[in-house]
Amino acid sequence: MQEGIMELMWSSSHVYGGNVSYVEGLYEQYLLDPNAIPEEWRNYFDKLPRTEGAGSRDIPLTPIREHFDLLAKNKHKAAPASAGSVSTEHEKKQVRVLQLINAYRFRGHQKANIDPLNLLEREPVADLDLAYHQLSSADLDTVFQTGSLFIGKDEAPLRDIIEALEKTYCSTTGAEFMHIVNTEEKRWLQQRFESVRSAPAFGVEAKKHILERLTAAEGMENYLASRYPGTKRFGLEGGESFIPMVDELIQRSGSFGVKEIVIGMAHRGRLNLLVNILGKNPAELFEEFEGKKLNHDGSGDVKYHQGFSSNVMTSGGEVHLALAFNPSHLEIVSPVVEGSVRARQDRRKDQSGDAVMPIVVHGDSAFAGQGVVMETFQMSQTRAYKTGGTIHLVINNQVGFTTSKPEDTRSTEYCTDIAKMVQAPIIHVNGDDPEAVIHAAQVAADYRQQFKRDVVIDLVCYRRRGHNEADEPSGTQPLMYQKISKQPSTRTLYAKKLIEEGVLSEAEDKDRMEDYRSALVDGRHVANSLVKEPNKELFVDWTPYLGHAWTSQADTSVELTHLQALANKLGEIPDGVKIQRQVNKIYEDRRKMAAGAMPVNWGFAEVLAYATILDQNHPVRITGQDVGRGTFSHRHAVIHSQADGEVYVPLQNLSESQPTMTIHDSYLSEEAVLAFEYGYATTKPDALVIWEAQFGDFANGAQVVIDQFITSGEHKWGRLCGLTMLLPHGYEGQGPEHSSARLERYLQSCAEQNIQVVVPTTPAQVFHMLRRQVIRPLRKPLIVMSPKSLLRHKDATSTLEELANGSFQTIINEVDATIDKSKVKRLVLTTGKVYYDLANYRRENEREDTAIIRIEQLYPFPTEKLAEIVAEYPALEDVVWCQDEPMNQGAWYSSQHHMRGVLNDYRKGFGYELKFAGRAASAAPACGYTSVHAEQQTQLVSDAFNA
Ligand code: AMP
Repeated sequence: MQEGIMELMWSSSHVYGGNVSYVEGLYEQYLLDPNAIPEEWRNYFDKLPRTEGAGSRDIPLTPIREHFDLLAKNKHKAAPASAGSVSTEHEKKQVRVLQLINAYRFRGHQKANIDPLNLLEREPVADLDLAYHQLSSADLDTVFQTGSLFIGKDEAPLRDIIEALEKTYCSTTGAEFMHIVNTEEKRWLQQRFESVRSAPAFGVEAKKHILERLTAAEGMENYLASRYPGTKRFGLEGGESFIPMVDELIQRSGSFGVKEIVIGMAHRGRLNLLVNILGKNPAELFEEFEGKKLNHDGSGDVKYHQGFSSNVMTSGGEVHLALAFNPSHLEIVSPVVEGSVRARQDRRKDQSGDAVMPIVVHGDSAFAGQGVVMETFQMSQTRAYKTGGTIHLVINNQVGFTTSKPEDTRSTEYCTDIAKMVQAPIIHVNGDDPEAVIHAAQVAADYRQQFKRDVVIDLVCYRRRGHNEADEPSGTQPLMYQKISKQPSTRTLYAKKLIEEGVLSEAEDKDRMEDYRSALVDGRHVANSLVKEPNKELFVDWTPYLGHAWTSQADTSVELTHLQALANKLGEIPDGVKIQRQVNKIYEDRRKMAAGAMPVNWGFAEVLAYATILDQNHPVRITGQDVGRGTFSHRHAVIHSQADGEVYVPLQNLSESQPTMTIHDSYLSEEAVLAFEYGYATTKPDALVIWEAQFGDFANGAQVVIDQFITSGEHKWGRLCGLTMLLPHGYEGQGPEHSSARLERYLQSCAEQNIQVVVPTTPAQVFHMLRRQVIRPLRKPLIVMSPKSLLRHKDATSTLEELANGSFQTIINEVDATIDKSKVKRLVLTTGKVYYDLANYRRENEREDTAIIRIEQLYPFPTEKLAEIVAEYPALEDVVWCQDEPMNQGAWYSSQHHMRGVLNDYRKGFGYELKFAGRAASAAPACGYTSVHAEQQTQLVSDAFNA
């Protein structure tokens, strides 16, 4: 074929004389639509070696050109273009100049001087060579049209064009945006960089301000280093430009009318940000260095994980800043920040993201390595999770984690390449050029404001003292640290530049450093824009939610007629909505339930709970996998019209003045989504916030969120959270992956009343459980083992009256009125769905000597209530705990001490051993064979009565 194509080419008049423009034209067409060109050419292009980036179809212009040049040479056929060729020589060159301009836009960043240490090894970029474009130094003085290049003139000598391109794309800013397909955005970015050659002229005051911020950044670290030598603080040294950059982002966004900014960041530079940007009093920080306990009752956290809130003044008014509390698990805070931002936007009815903005700060290697980064980008434009664009800042100190080199921490050229998946512009900037850093911040803030999409600044810097102050980095990074030891600080370099420019004198500079130091010594605030008397209306007042015990009561009843009115409203479907047959049946049944003509099932009780909660003015937000319908089709809260696919949500149409009801199917993530909802719930206490897993064990993918935030956030940071997790759980012969929500994991994490773990078994219970969660001012995470088959179990029903008049029962005592308590010899304590199997066995075997008690709330454990119930059985001989999970799973190991504590309480006259009936311990959560499952289930139920 190769031979054939060569013949084709050399016999073609178009390519005669080495006129490869024709071939390039073909090639460009091939890239757009391979079928639009002759098959021989397509095959030829398909086989060309991809020497500069395997897999990318738009790269091999180099080989094509080289290939043809070589062929031309070999054939000795090169000749000047004939008069009849496609264009004049100047026109051809004009086209090449335009290609050169585009090449700079595409690849200029690969030549940019973005590394302050100048150690970054970069391959020469062929596309930026004149020869590559068949131009030469002889063309430098030729005037060409500048095309779309924003340099203020339509024509310019090639020399000037190249100079502008070099300055714009290859100086200390490396702008990467040509991966964006939206032309308007791309043009906007081109204009922003090209029109000022990536280096806008700053005025004297602006320059002094940048220096002042750098002085603060460096002064803070120097002061801490001298006062607390060797103490871990994850200093910012080497990345000081971060402080003026964040300052600029806040000020500029404030000028656009942003009212709240939530910031997420890991430990590096956090103390510096806290003091110099958020205005934490340095005296307080010093006390923390000296080990002072913070003023909440929990276990606390190290100082570089602490959050903070303050208000700062900008030209657009006061802006509330919130730095999110952060565990050590890098990157997980990003979706938490997004959730908190969305909650604030919802509170302000800010649908575009104009009033509340997220800033998330990353480390280079975590950004490239952690999967949750991808998950967070993926959520950025979805209906349920978008926040109008996030500004991502990477503090890229070029060492991964503690010691790794970039070649070990990623397979991509930049640590930021993941951001291209959402077509975010990425601005790589040299941390030792603070003015370029400020320009990057301005472009990022303006881009977010304009397009409401994510944008990334890659602040390329270094870390002067290694991973932390107790570290000796030269052991693993010898060359880098030899270089760093000779590298003047960013502040020193910039001060020198300003002194040379005459912006300030050396003496003035020294005075400023002294002033900053004495402010620290005196423990004075050093964030100049801090508002001392903050406007509290900018954030939520949490005082109504503080100081409530889990035992506090909530009236979750609803007047029956009112409940029925709401139930009827839920059944009204507008004429235009063509409801699908099976869904219609569900709604018809619900109408009967509302009329009292049919018992209330799980799905309706749940939906009614939401309706009553909305009616009491609490917003409701539900997200998760298939939540609109419900994994097991029990909810059907969202009706999809068969006529036009439009959706109708009855819960959104209860009244004109109702609060928001948000229900969205999530994308297929657990980690970021759960973290988002945690962030939402910790910011919006008036709302019922629910995340539902497809199957309960899917929450495994979000274990970090459960461990680091949900079960421990209140105790580490004093941050309350009323999030509800609905986790389908149930042993129904569906195999190891679909049976268990890993109840034992939650129970094992229970301490100090940190969470509530509930296993409701009736529709009335789920109704009151959900209502209690938001009506009671206690804000504690609620972990629910929710059912699967019980959703349709004939006995798992309730009456409307039980919904209207009841309350949540932490324990359900024996409900069978035919059981005479005075004759009961055995109590079977149990939880969840197995109750119905036990009740069935008792009925069939007429075992009136046994009562069945359901523990509906496993944590906090209702000790007193259990004691009251046990006392009602005077003839009791023994007590069995029955669960359908294997012995090493479920509630047995984690909850038996609560039950034994009651059963062995001799003061109450008890003294019962607690026996176990359940599956044998097992490595997997459940067996994979239905027949084995059934055998085990029959056995364990029988054991509960007979063993
Ligand atoms: P923020 O807007 O997040 O900075 O919060 C403002 C103030 O509200 C904080 O300083 C806390 O006093 C309080 N606050 C915010 N979130 C919570 C929470 N989840 N639990 C308790 N108090 C909170």
